[in-house]
Amino acid sequence: MSKLFYQTKSPRPMLDRADGIYMWDTSGKRYIDGSSGAMVSNIGHGNPAVLSAMQAQMAQSTFGYRLHFQTEPSEALAEKITSLTPEGLDRVFFVSGGSEAVESALKFARQYALTQGEAQRFKVISRYPSYHGATLGALAITGYAPMTAPFDPMMQAMPKIPAPRAYLDGLDIDDPATGRHYADMLEAKILEEGPDTILAFIVEPIGGASTGALVPPAGYMQRIREICDQYGVLLMHDEVMTGGGRTGRFFGAEHWDVTPDIIALSKGFGAGYVPLGAMIARTDMVEAVLGAGGFIHGYTYAGNPLACAAGLAVLNEIEANGLTQNAAQMGDALHARLQSLMQRYPLIGDVRGKGLLLAFELMADRGTKEPLPAEFNAHSRLVDIAYENGLIIYSRRTRGGISGDHFLVCPPMIVTEAQLDEIAEILDRSMQQLMSELPA
Ligand code: PLP
Repeated sequence: MSKLFYQTKSPRPMLDRADGIYMWDTSGKRYIDGSSGAMVSNIGHGNPAVLSAMQAQMAQSTFGYRLHFQTEPSEALAEKITSLTPEGLDRVFFVSGGSEAVESALKFARQYALTQGEAQRFKVISRYPSYHGATLGALAITGYAPMTAPFDPMMQAMPKIPAPRAYLDGLDIDDPATGRHYADMLEAKILEEGPDTILAFIVEPIGGASTGALVPPAGYMQRIREICDQYGVLLMHDEVMTGGGRTGRFFGAEHWDVTPDIIALSKGFGAGYVPLGAMIARTDMVEAVLGAGGFIHGYTYAGNPLACAAGLAVLNEIEANGLTQNAAQMGDALHARLQSLMQRYPLIGDVRGKGLLLAFELMADRGTKEPLPAEFNAHSRLVDIAYENGLIIYSRRTRGGISGDHFLVCPPMIVTEAQLDEIAEILDRSMQQLMSELPA
């Protein structure tokens, strides 16, 4: 019996190997990695250029503590990533994952506020549903009760506003009035809490697992920026899932041309080859913090040369193979296939997302948006059926009364049209099976 105690709803087989968009278990069964793990393996598995960059680096050194040595891979990766960031954000702090990137952003913002003589600013507003990480600081700004509730007295819960779930409220996502409606909830919350106490607002440009690829309505991201500027609130973009090209732009926020003050990045940055993340901040903010004695923060493994060499090779592969553009094109093609499934299955109440960050949601009634009863357990049952049929997808049932069962379909950015057909065919078969199992 395994000594590990990770939780899976159903027992999972032993992984043997992975290549491209496919994975095999030790019995020889093949799976399509239809969710890139947890939206991580963006460039697919076993990329030869990344593996050879890692092997070359391993032969040289796998670790050089950042306070003892500068390393070429970390310098080169910092140069490369800042060539992709919006102007003015060109200082990088490497970490080893998304939670660490978010924690770093929270602590950095706080230290920056102190340099500005604003010690009274400590609250970070976020949205519900949202997910920003598993550590206690990141949980304090996470709007997802199943993961936060058990730890409640251990963390100071921060103020939240609703995510812009226009499709549930029957509002038109393309109407700027809709964007304004939801963005103005931020202003109302800032006023309610006291503007002088608000340090930052954190937002996933396109919602991740907690909302199921929720795309903000027209004008929302721009209005959020305006409100933050008006009240001296820092704007943090959590690009942990959206960064790295998956949405069809390198950073998700590029779809709206909005520049934040701080970016948290991970997942597709290391693309499953190594644990890697980054907190990227405005140059003047970094200079202010360094000038006041430095950033009181750091992780032992952060910025290690092996991770940075792999990250650099990942970014080079994305660029050399036009994978961000492929994510945009294949995303449109997959979106169309999911929409045609929606036409066949009334149970599918919504299809949404951008690029290859796509999701569909099951509902008991499309008109009223009533979710399926929780006891149907559709979110885990459909994942299991698809898994049996050789397709890995990712699901959540977002509780809190506002959502139903949603499923992320996010294959690696190297996916082809023929492979999308395969994914759509397995989803179709899996939906038929789910329908046959549901009570009438
Ligand atoms: N932020 C977002 C938007 C995420 O989706 C996640 C993980 O799913 C995290 C932060 C936390 O990242 P990690 O699990 O690498 O710590």
